[in-house]
Amino acid sequence: MHHYLTLNGLDGPMLRQFGCDCARCTGRERLANTSASLISLDDQGQTAHHILFDVGLGVVDSLVQNPHLAGTKARLDWIVLTHWHPDHTLELNRVAVSYRLRRRPDFRIPTWCRSGSADWLHREHGYDMEYLLQPHKSGEYHRPGTLLPPLPIDLPGVTITPVTVSHLRADISPNDRHQTRYSCAVFIIETARSKTVLLWDIDSENEWLVQPTTAAEKAAVQRLSGADHLFIDTGFWQYHRPRMSHPGFYNVRRIARTLQPQETLLVHLSGHPDGPGQPAWGWSNAQWSTQAAQVWQAENLPGRVRVPAIGERFDLIS
Ligand SMILES: [Zn+2]
Ligand SMILES: [Zn+2]
Repeated sequence: MHHYLTLNGLDGPMLRQFGCDCARCTGRERLANTSASLISLDDQGQTAHHILFDVGLGVVDSLVQNPHLAGTKARLDWIVLTHWHPDHTLELNRVAVSYRLRRRPDFRIPTWCRSGSADWLHREHGYDMEYLLQPHKSGEYHRPGTLLPPLPIDLPGVTITPVTVSHLRADISPNDRHQTRYSCAVFIIETARSKTVLLWDIDSENEWLVQPTTAAEKAAVQRLSGADHLFIDTGFWQYHRPRMSHPGFYNVRRIARTLQPQETLLVHLSGHPDGPGQPAWGWSNAQWSTQAAQVWQAENLPGRVRVPAIGERFDLIS
């Protein structure tokens, strides 16, 4: 069996902004909310398994363009959600309804998310959760920096381990906005000889990623370290205070220094939070790659850095 990861989208949360004429908003390349597919091929090269991580806007368009999922090759074994925010869940209904038409009328897609996110999704996507998805909740609300048990996915040779993170404005109870309920997870995808980390969405705190103190945090950082590919949400270029919903490039550099990946891949770019006239405002992905690589070299940061492309393929060595 051969496994590869591909990106269904890399932008968000705002994609093109209504009423904006920056280079990103006037560009012609297709944008989609951040998402990835883990696709497994059998020895004949046929699609044998597919796990979809996050289902924001534009993701189904990526799936139908993937050569291993197009037309009747489509299959979807699991949906895995980092959290409940709309830019990660907007196309749940679209993917579930269309895929059901290919399967039997009562087919429900197994779906993993943390309990806090499930509470929100029952409210925001009640119909989908009730009739189209088969939710598997983690049953916990652990604080950030905790390794959770591997996902209950039967895919020989692949282990997917969730790690809890904090993400401002997602870590709240749907019934009481003043009550903290940790709802977000990132994922370590491991084969015998490869490690890929999907580290989104995290807020600009998560200091445990840089300076772990408890035994649980140290264990989590150790497992996240030394990845072949580290995908990380990068909301803005400049250093912002106070706490922001996403890490800026400043945080990304600190995290990369600790986790020492071979390659750091910037996702969840928007180009807008830095503000008009400021560095990074409206930057294209190519501009982001150039600017980030310059800093990487100047600061002697580990490995390479760049913005990946939608549809790009990352082979996982088994
Ligand atoms: Zn997001
Ligand atoms: Zn989010």
